[in-house]
This record gives sequence, C-alpha cells and structure tokens, in this order.
Amino acid sequence: MPPLFEHELLNQPFGDPVLYVRLTGERKALLFDLGELGSLSAGKLFKVTHVFVSHTHMDHFIGFDHLLRLNLSRDKTITIYGPEGIIKNVRGRLRGYTWNLVEDYPFVIEVIEVCAKKLRKVCFICRDRFMSDVEKTTPFEKAIDVHPHYTVSALRVDHKITSIIYTLEERFRININRDRLQRLGLPVGKWLRELKSCIWEGKPDSWLVCVKEDKAGGKIFKEIELGVLKKEITTITKGEKIAYISDCRGIERNFRKIIPFVSGADILFCESAFIDSDKDKASSKGHLTARQAGFIARESGARELKVFHFSPRYEHCPDLLYQEAEQEFRRSRLSGNR
Ligand SMILES: [Zn+2]
Ligand SMILES: [Zn+2]
Repeated sequence: MPPLFEHELLNQPFGDPVLYVRLTGERKALLFDLGELGSLSAGKLFKVTHVFVSHTHMDHFIGFDHLLRLNLSRDKTITIYGPEGIIKNVRGRLRGYTWNLVEDYPFVIEVIEVCAKKLRKVCFICRDRFMSDVEKTTPFEKAIDVHPHYTVSALRVDHKITSIIYTLEERFRININRDRLQRLGLPVGKWLRELKSCIWEGKPDSWLVCVKEDKAGGKIFKEIELGVLKKEITTITKGEKIAYISDCRGIERNFRKIIPFVSGADILFCESAFIDSDKDKASSKGHLTARQAGFIARESGARELKVFHFSPRYEHCPDLLYQEAEQEFRRSRLSGNR
C-alpha cells in the first residue's frame, strides 16, 4: 500500500518555509507554513484544504495572498490554523482589498487560533465580502484536526513570540494481503477501498461488506462480515508520523516539551538557521542551530531528520549546516550534551 502522506519541502534550504503534504487517495493536500508559494502549480494549490501556520513572520505567511487569489472563485473552505493573533492577521490581509464583485463566490476561509487552552474560530465568507466576525471557542489540549485517517496536533513554543510546531500522524495503516485475497477467490477492486473506509470509521465487526467486481454489471460475490475480512485479508500496522518545527528558540524550556511531542517521528522537519559556533546569533534571533536540530531529532528518536530554513549567511556553505545536524543526530545518545 502506498504511504498516505507525500511530502515536498519547498524553497529550500534558503527560501521561505513551506511543507506541502498530499494525502494519497484523496484529492486533498495540507500546507505547513505559508511562505512563498510560486513554485507550486495551480493544480497542487487547488488541492489545499488545511494550512498550519507556525507564526506570522513575513517569511512564513507571505503566501496567503497567492493561495487566496487562486482559490477565490472555488466552492471550498480553506482552514488556516496559527498562533494567537492570526485571526487579526488574516482579517488585515482581507481588508486590504476591494470586494464588490464576489457575491456569487462560495469560497470560505476558516481561521483557527491555537491559544493556551482553547481554539478560537472565525469564518470569513467571500460572498459577505469577508466581513463576518462570529467567533466560536472550543477547548484544546493537543489534537487540533482529527480526521478518520490522521490527526494533526499542535504545540506552542517560544520564538520570542509564540510559534506553533505541528505533528501529522496517520492513525494506523491497513495493508491488504493480496495472496490471501487470491486464495479466497476474492476480486481486487473498489470494494477494498470501501473495506478500508469501514475500518477507518470503526464500523462493528458484524458490519456486512459487499464484495463485488468493478466492471459495469460486475458480479456481486457475496456480503462478508467486516470482522472476517479484517482477520483473513488485512494487517494493521503503525501509521507514519511527520513532525514540523519552525521557528523556535534553542532553550531548555522548549527542548523539554518539544522532544516528547515529536517523539518517534518517521520524518522530522526542523529549522536550523545557524551553525553552533554562531549560537549567540541564533539565540538573539530566536532560532535553533543545526546542532540543536540534530539533538532534538536524536533525543526524540526520529528515524530521519530534514533540516531547512538556513540563514543566508551560509549561502556559500550550506553543507556546514547539513553536516553539523547529521553529526549530532547520529551521535550516540550516551555521549550527549547539547
Ligand atoms: Zn520567525
Ligand atoms: Zn522564519
């Protein structure tokens, strides 16, 4: 079975941060941060339904207008998560334009602020000239977007302002055993997708799944109980976990909460703006060093580390950052100071 998430880190290593994640099997994509989007095709941007913004420094938010422009006349809702203040930021961007010809546009922007203990939500509706102001509040601990297939969680960290780091976790993976399928004389087809949906949705084992061929007027084999199919032809394995850290100060208080939060990531995307010998500069700018990124990856048990968001001062020597992060990441846990 192909992975659920296909990811693409844009503009790297020196450009604006954007992580594009396509959900395979769905016409849907997620964005982590909203930096410059020019390198993404319109087709890819049409698929975006949810955006997870770390903070609204310009390099993380300048792509907002681009995303809005492309999707404006479409019948869809884009949900944007971000730290306290993002509702005001989005409202400010929307108020910068004139909206007298949009009465027929069904497009909606839903903005959700991740506050300390709650999520604040406001919907900006295009045909109302984005003037809506109705606010809804829900309690929040960790998970902010729960989908049958995956969960996105958020953690507030210190970047001299509040910045949000995110994890994206596939709930579990359903593998179909093709050999067993063949041995039982069952066809390969769309019914397997329905079978997976039943498992994702948590239908009871007594639920009847219709096994049929795909072709028009295709033969219906039989109805089989979900519990039997689960046992006979599927294997459930651990899903993929992606973690996204940008931007964040390299301080003990951050490390203490980040490490358990991103623990066990298959891929950890982590900003690493400076090298360790420039850590005073990193500290004054509220950023991590490559060594600190490697430390987080190692201590949290990441399988793979991808560093990004390098300071332009290393334009001629990006390898310094890659090497420093990798060296720290691969260093034995036992030897570690940071
Ligand atoms: Zn920043
Ligand atoms: Zn930044």
